[in-house]
Amino acid sequence: MAAVDAAADLLLTAARLPDRDGLVDIAVVGDRIASNGPASVAARGAIDLGGRLVTPGLVESHIHLDKALLSDRVSTTAGTLEEAIRVTAQAKRSFTVDDVRGRARRVLDMAVRNGTTAVRSHVEVDPGVGLTGLEALLPVREEYAPALDLQLCAFAQEGIIRAPGTEGLLRRALQMGADLIGGCPYTDSDPIGHIRTVFALATAFGVDADFHVDFSDEPLHMHVREIADQTVRLGWQGRVVVGHVTELAAIPPFEQDTVVAELAAAGVAVVCLPATDLYLMGRGDDINIRRGLAPIRRLLAAGVPVALASNNIRNPFTPVGTADLALLTFLVAVAAHMGSPADLRALVDTITVHPARMLRLPDYGLVPGCRADLVVWECARAEDIPATLPARTLVLKRGRVTVEAEHRVVERWR
Ligand SMILES: [Zn+2]
Repeated sequence: MAAVDAAADLLLTAARLPDRDGLVDIAVVGDRIASNGPASVAARGAIDLGGRLVTPGLVESHIHLDKALLSDRVSTTAGTLEEAIRVTAQAKRSFTVDDVRGRARRVLDMAVRNGTTAVRSHVEVDPGVGLTGLEALLPVREEYAPALDLQLCAFAQEGIIRAPGTEGLLRRALQMGADLIGGCPYTDSDPIGHIRTVFALATAFGVDADFHVDFSDEPLHMHVREIADQTVRLGWQGRVVVGHVTELAAIPPFEQDTVVAELAAAGVAVVCLPATDLYLMGRGDDINIRRGLAPIRRLLAAGVPVALASNNIRNPFTPVGTADLALLTFLVAVAAHMGSPADLRALVDTITVHPARMLRLPDYGLVPGCRADLVVWECARAEDIPATLPARTLVLKRGRVTVEAEHRVVERWR
């Protein structure tokens, strides 16, 4: 790569890139990567990375900031999806703007420290909670802009057809500035009507659509086929994402191939939510408890973009969580039998390049011209991320350092 003519604003020296041998210097000019080779450019500031790995910023493609961190006020006994939806709906009645905003900030702070530079958050909109979540989070989107790009998805968790008034509220949410529309057909009395309404709003407002879909141990719904069909019919290819899709893993392999091919042809991307899916699925199994994950390998092999995302942080859907996407690659390496070096590198793509495509982030990557959203890891190779959960020593957003971390251990026993 040629050296830049002008002096760089920042030079990251002795960096390692995921797909290249040897060390490079990354020159940042303004908010962009200007070069990434053995450059000998002048720079106003230089940081020696000492051979550490650099990846693009992590992309959280599916998280619920509005119902995060509820574990201290809500308790569960059955541990099922139905119970989680029911007790969270009760808790939602006491949500206030300040309450939602405070919990969202705590989660976003964790995400930023862990190297996340873009987030898509579902925000529940229904007659119960009204627009409280969106009112809380619209200013948070601006507040966190120096550290991450936040997309807000106006989301109908409680149904549209069975909860009259929701469609009008979704419309209002999009007018107020929600970035996209989200649906959840399996909770509605008329799932197909629900899907149609979401697409009608998506096309009317010219926004992307993101569904929670087919979240069961058995193929009870398979609404994903209707979603793929409508995506093609409306010309919304590349603008539709589906989350969970655990039911896809419950049909015979040749039938899975048919549905996966439909998703690939429709340009529909899949988000796997491993912490929630592993926690809530298989609840009816006494022996040989199922894992309840979408068939990640099969989807990737067919060219369907697959992302791993947090979904919920410490609430009835997922009692644990630190908003660390690297942890999800560790989890899925084990849970989805993806342990070879190539598999581990593919898992790093599920928290970087694939979700970046789903969020349609412009100029994402490590080549010159890309936005300098970067993470520096305490390791040398991409496969070390799932394998060892390395510390993140430096995070950059649009060319500016947002996080510097030091980790000091003194081994006194020696
Ligand atoms: Zn979700």
